[in-house]
Amino acid sequence: MFARVLGHERQKNLLQRAVASSRLPHAYLFEGPEGIGKRLIALALTKMLFCANGNSCSECPACRKIDHHNHPDLHQINADGSSIKIEQIRALQKELSYRPLEAPYKVCLIDGAEKMNLAAANALLKTLEEPRAQTLLILLTPTPDAVLPTIRSRCQRLPFSRIPKEKLQEVLVEQLKIDDTQSHVLATLSEGSFKKALGKDRELYLQRRRDLLKNLAALSPGSVIPLLDLAQKLAEEKDLLFEILEIIQAFYRDLLLLKHGSPLEELVNVDMLETLEHVSRKEDVSSLLGKLSALMTSRRHLERNVNRQLAMEVLLMRLVA
Ligand SMILES: [Zn+2]
Repeated sequence: MFARVLGHERQKNLLQRAVASSRLPHAYLFEGPEGIGKRLIALALTKMLFCANGNSCSECPACRKIDHHNHPDLHQINADGSSIKIEQIRALQKELSYRPLEAPYKVCLIDGAEKMNLAAANALLKTLEEPRAQTLLILLTPTPDAVLPTIRSRCQRLPFSRIPKEKLQEVLVEQLKIDDTQSHVLATLSEGSFKKALGKDRELYLQRRRDLLKNLAALSPGSVIPLLDLAQKLAEEKDLLFEILEIIQAFYRDLLLLKHGSPLEELVNVDMLETLEHVSRKEDVSSLLGKLSALMTSRRHLERNVNRQLAMEVLLMRLVA
């Protein structure tokens, strides 16, 4: 029934057993990294409950409505901007006060549950404290620690872990028709996230990664103009900046591994050995550690919304020093 969702066998079995024995809790908290399939599993679970043929057929009207996000008994809440607001929870509570229209249950997905602001979380707490029959709440979060403890304790927690790299690599080779080197890079950088490996980050992780790292490796302490140019280009990548920092971080980590004589398959950038070896000759372990720490510092600064251009200039100066 979960055939179309890869991995997570233990979690799928557990949910299947809960449905089969009619022992669903009133609320689940699905926790685990972004993009590994939590939401897909929540939707598959909804199909199990709603399907007219009892087998998540994907063809009956109920299954099709779920696929098209227009089933009247499936409600989904996402962050409105950076937070989930109390109005959204109130609207949900109103919905939940009616009986299901077509399905045996009302299901509500709250995606990014850590984004509920305090007022919203306290409002939801009421719903969790007085659960209604025929209602299932599924909260999804990558950071359970950021969810109110009182909410966490009223949900059945179901942790999900990253897809193992080898498994992800297998799927990538099959689905994308790419070679082993590319699938290695993609599987490693996406850290077990299908969403990352198959989504908008793919091109970033393959070709643009190479261009970026070559530009970076070509910088020298004296090359001020190219450094400022690169800083500006990076600063313009508002939406991808954290992914870009991860790419640069993986590059310096590779250099460190090279210094330690680690086996090549532990590296991320296996397709750039020449560049890695070239840069590695100019670096020692302590300067590499310093650069990795500079990367972490700039990430923290960016999380606090500092001036991106300035943050990138400071970072690059540290990296070429
Ligand atoms: Zn169906």
